[in-house]
Amino acid sequence: MTDPAIYDYLLIGHGIAGAVLARELRGRGHRVLVYDEPRPEAASRVAAGLMNPVAGKRFALTWRAHETLPAAVAYYQKLGEELGEEFFQANDILKVFGSAQEQAQMLARAAEGDPWQGFVAKIETTPIERPGLLAPHGGAWLRGGGHLRVEALLAALARQGRAEGWLREETFDWAALVADGSGVAYAPGRLRAHRVVCCQGAAALACPHFSWLPLTPNQGAVLDVAVPGLSAAQVLNRGAYVVPGVVPERFRVGATYRWPPFATEPGGDDQRELAGRLADLTPLPFTVTGERRGVRPAVRDRRPLLGRHPALSWLSLFGGFGSKGVSLAPRLASQLADYLNHNGELWPDVNLARYYALYVAP
Ligand SMILES: Cc1cc2nc3c(=O)[nH]c(=O)nc-3n(C[C@H](O)[C@H](O)[C@H](O)COP(=O)(O)OP(=O)(O)OC[C@H]3O[C@@H](n4cnc5c(N)ncnc54)[C@H](O)[C@@H]3O)c2cc1C
Repeated sequence: MTDPAIYDYLLIGHGIAGAVLARELRGRGHRVLVYDEPRPEAASRVAAGLMNPVAGKRFALTWRAHETLPAAVAYYQKLGEELGEEFFQANDILKVFGSAQEQAQMLARAAEGDPWQGFVAKIETTPIERPGLLAPHGGAWLRGGGHLRVEALLAALARQGRAEGWLREETFDWAALVADGSGVAYAPGRLRAHRVVCCQGAAALACPHFSWLPLTPNQGAVLDVAVPGLSAAQVLNRGAYVVPGVVPERFRVGATYRWPPFATEPGGDDQRELAGRLADLTPLPFTVTGERRGVRPAVRDRRPLLGRHPALSWLSLFGGFGSKGVSLAPRLASQLADYLNHNGELWPDVNLARYYALYVAP
């Protein structure tokens, strides 16, 4: 019998979180193996990939936008160059105003100065003329974000992982993992590892070591639509977002938010809601060409969950990305890699140590 293969890091999950962290660790010279069962309902495979500096009706700047968005933009642009394909589009996002009141709110926000000003390219308070667009109250042009073709990027990275041997497309069985003094052994994979990082998204709840965390699955749906005549020069955002696809006149419209019980069939409330929001943005007729549904890893305080397990020093988590995994993963993967290498601290608001009081040893 040959000796088991030895890795520095064993990662479970190759959604956007696991993919970015694996690349970060491999880039630092670590021996990394990733297990991923590519579930079609994994959040990363349905995400529209929007990186939006502004959230919600009150036009609040998204959490730590000025620290995470520039890092994400640079990261995905560089990754596209390395892989020889562009996955990221740095389009402006047009936040369409629904009323004069929204207009006034946005003007007040923008007057707050930095870091706001860096993200607002222009505010228009008169009707915006663009092919197919309904924007009688104007809107705000936001820069510094864009959108990523997440599913295509993950497929490209998975091809690389298969070719280079660092990805196994199998379900990982936590029950078969055995810890000892110097790390862990995983007999089904004939391997040993010094450290394990759970990057399972909402499925982290099924990891027996992290079920105590306040992680709640939240279902979302997106529609793929054909809208002949609608301008594709920007991302549109009002209630829903409308992201241009690779194929002309095709767009992805998202997203809904649903707590359990989850919808199982397409064509129901989610589709009606998103079609209604699209109709607020364009008077043009459209055809729904597809509906996708995924489950977000949402956290009670709406902040990611990173860091070490309270009792198992070999085990860490990289997750809880809610609706923002695409823009947060690059900056936080580098932070977690520094932390695991004893080279830096985690931001307290992402460190899962904030929930250690909930942990009860078995
Ligand atoms: C409808 C919708 C739209 C969204 N739109 C956006 C958006 O525009 N912008 C944005 O930033 N975010 C968006 N999000 C959120 C974003 O998708 C998530 O924040 C992000 O994808 C989470 O990534 P993750 O890698 O943590 O989890 P996941 O994408 O869920 O990946 C986890 C991976 O682990 C695998 N896995 C799980 N258990 C096991 C196991 N036992 N063994 C092996 N593999 C396992 C899964 O199969 C999966 O491949 C959206 C989400 C939804 C649902």
